[in-house]
Amino acid sequence: MSTQTFEPKASQQPANLVQIGDSIEDVIQRRLAEERARLEREAGLQQREVHHFKRPQERPFTKDERTHTTLLFGGLTWKHEKLVHGALEGLGYKAQAVPTPNVKAFQTGKEYGNNGQCNPTYFTVGNLVQFLQSLEEQGVSREEIIDKYVFFTAGACGPCRFGMYEAEYRLALRNSGFDGFRVLLFQQSGGLSQSDAEAGLEMNLDFFLGILNALNCGDVMNEVAYAIRPYETQAGEADRVLDETMEYMHEVFRTKRPWKLDEGMSKYLGGFSDTAEYIGKFVNQIRGDEYTSALHKCRDQFNTIEVDRLRVKPIVKITGEFWAQTTEGDGNFNMFKFLEREGAQVLVEPIGTWIMYMMHQVVQKYKDFKGLEEGAVLPPIWNVGKRAKIEIGYRQKVAKLKLAEAIFKSEYHKIVDSLGGIAHHLADQYELQRLGHPFYNSRAGGGEGHLEVAKNIYYSNKDLAHMVLSVKPFGCMPSTQSDGAQSAVVSNYKDMIYLPIETSGEGEINAHSRVQMALGEAKNKAKKEFAQVLETNGLTLDQCRAWVEAHPEAKRPMYHVPHTKGVIGQAANFVCHIAEQLKTERAN
Ligand code: SF4
Repeated sequence: MSTQTFEPKASQQPANLVQIGDSIEDVIQRRLAEERARLEREAGLQQREVHHFKRPQERPFTKDERTHTTLLFGGLTWKHEKLVHGALEGLGYKAQAVPTPNVKAFQTGKEYGNNGQCNPTYFTVGNLVQFLQSLEEQGVSREEIIDKYVFFTAGACGPCRFGMYEAEYRLALRNSGFDGFRVLLFQQSGGLSQSDAEAGLEMNLDFFLGILNALNCGDVMNEVAYAIRPYETQAGEADRVLDETMEYMHEVFRTKRPWKLDEGMSKYLGGFSDTAEYIGKFVNQIRGDEYTSALHKCRDQFNTIEVDRLRVKPIVKITGEFWAQTTEGDGNFNMFKFLEREGAQVLVEPIGTWIMYMMHQVVQKYKDFKGLEEGAVLPPIWNVGKRAKIEIGYRQKVAKLKLAEAIFKSEYHKIVDSLGGIAHHLADQYELQRLGHPFYNSRAGGGEGHLEVAKNIYYSNKDLAHMVLSVKPFGCMPSTQSDGAQSAVVSNYKDMIYLPIETSGEGEINAHSRVQMALGEAKNKAKKEFAQVLETNGLTLDQCRAWVEAHPEAKRPMYHVPHTKGVIGQAANFVCHIAEQLKTERAN
């Protein structure tokens, strides 16, 4: 802004407008205000006082409150929550997951929140209020609730309504009489050390590693259970083993202590001890085997279940908005249970994909903003020194993020392999971008961005699903946008069975009936595929069953069945595998 001062000549300017020493900007602003006031007076407009929402000053959550304050969290599946719970306890926090949101929570959210929010806002905000009300019903006083509980959730600054969650929580809490209840934010866009971290909740490297490990293990355990359940020969076995292994993994996380530099070594290293501890924690994460050996035990437990892989089932890949595709309750009409009841195998979406997407978007941002700082333009081409400096800075930033991507991916895949390798590896973000970008600009942020479109193509093209079901919350802006793009996708990929379902608090029967219709098509596709592989390989179902009886190890879920190109279903892939095995056996 200019600091030039205005030096009026008394004969040129009215004395009441210009004072000696005013800047040009001051004069302009004053004249503008006067003119606005005059026009408003003439138009008969009353000037109203504007009340902008301001983040209320909350009492901080301090370190000494840790022992008697419960950290509430939620919004994921019970498997993720159980492990996050264990990780938080292992870090020294008292923690409790709020129950899975139901329709009543949705109605509570509507009652106490703003109008016109998206569906997950109502569900999650209402769920917290409902939980606090239930504490009150159990005899905990309101003062005690406000004093002894805090809520910990993810936040963002937009561009979709996710940016409004924090404000919505606070508004609904105030409207429901829990004014002063503390909401702690974990910013989606923040780094390893969150800037607004309260001293009571230390968002440091130990915290992030603990939470990420818990989320990754939760993802893989979840997927493994969904992959086994439809094929179990004894109903309920997969759930029984899942319960047992989740209890066990919860204990593993609860008793795991963050890696620390030895005290003697710390003294010896002096000023370098912090860096050494940082590096040590990373190395311990990459090389340590606490989780992998525990996961091997879970794998062996899962492997006690008997499965019948020759059941022909369509694989339904779930995509859509982050929360709607994750929750296992009324928020998506209990869709996963419904699909399993209807005879499908559900391929759930890991939270890991979204974490990778977040990193990927930052890499893209660095690429787009390369050399542009605060509106600066690139130096001319002959200014080699300056250009080289920009280039090196940019490459360093990107290299760090790419390293983070590589580490995260390899840690995730380590868990997949430790659990028997039956869960899928994470989809490659660069491939997803390449697939999705022609239909949905990959720089358009908010929600799942281009991922919804890209995953639809990815899972259909790679023969990983017979049908893609996208669960889209009512009022979701990014999902509505990607729905428009999906019509172009479907017209380009004719064999795709794609169904978008709008999830709101009501309308479950209608949604289920639409899914049933599309699922009918997917079942036919799976049956035709199965008949075709039997025919191509010259086998009958009875011959396949006889082979399985002669090879009882193939009745175990961890028995490895390779994926045959162009074949989607488990049963069809199994037939291809039996055919290969028979060829080898006959040759010997
Ligand atoms: S992605 Fe959609 S549903 Fe999710 S917070 Fe944003 S607007 Fe709401």
